[in-house]
Amino acid sequence: MTGRVFEIREFTLHDGPGVRTTVFMKGCPLRCAWCHNPEGQSFDFETMHLAGGRTKVAGADFEPEALAKELATNADIMASSGGGITFSGGEPLTQADFVEATIAAFRKMVDRKVTVALETSGAVAPEVYRRLIPQFDFVYQDLKHHDADAFRKWTGGELSMVLENIAFLKTSGVEFALRVPMIPGVNDSAADFAEYERIAAGAKLERLPYNPLAGAKYPQLGRKYQLPV
Ligand code: SF4
Repeated sequence: MTGRVFEIREFTLHDGPGVRTTVFMKGCPLRCAWCHNPEGQSFDFETMHLAGGRTKVAGADFEPEALAKELATNADIMASSGGGITFSGGEPLTQADFVEATIAAFRKMVDRKVTVALETSGAVAPEVYRRLIPQFDFVYQDLKHHDADAFRKWTGGELSMVLENIAFLKTSGVEFALRVPMIPGVNDSAADFAEYERIAAGAKLERLPYNPLAGAKYPQLGRKYQLPV
């Protein structure tokens, strides 16, 4: 079995507590207009055209043990800082079997206390979500919109599936936070937040500020960023 990754970033600080390594999995069922990792959307290898005529291929295949070994490189620093590894993307749960096998290999390799986190859109089949969620120490679950039509318009996905998964997450016993990526004029009004509070129903709710550099990678892929920057 192999899985496809487009970046492994060490010493990340915003994807969970302590020192972490974040692995960005390739492939996502959504097409969020504000996506700042467009090379994570397609599962296919893609060539990115960088400054100075340089190119880079987005995508690398790993076997679970090989990825786990790579992620375990900083295990000492992770353990001493209360950190660990985070699966991000793209949507990590589109490669659920691979992620599951990598977590198992990682836990076998690293016997110190390090945490395994997930960043997910929740736009995956509930049976997959329910199988994978209990394997994480904590989950950052996106809450991109509260209105089904707006969710479809801006992400291409179905809100009902995400809400079903959030309902499961609340009962799972796994520590989690709901995260709203604040997109000006799209999902960030006071009325919108009243809806997010209603959905969260007391659960932890975080606001992620809009990234003004979100559109930077689109020209590298020969694509156009859809939002005004
Ligand atoms: S869910 Fe994340 S990776 Fe997928 S399109 Fe949206 S922002 Fe990009």
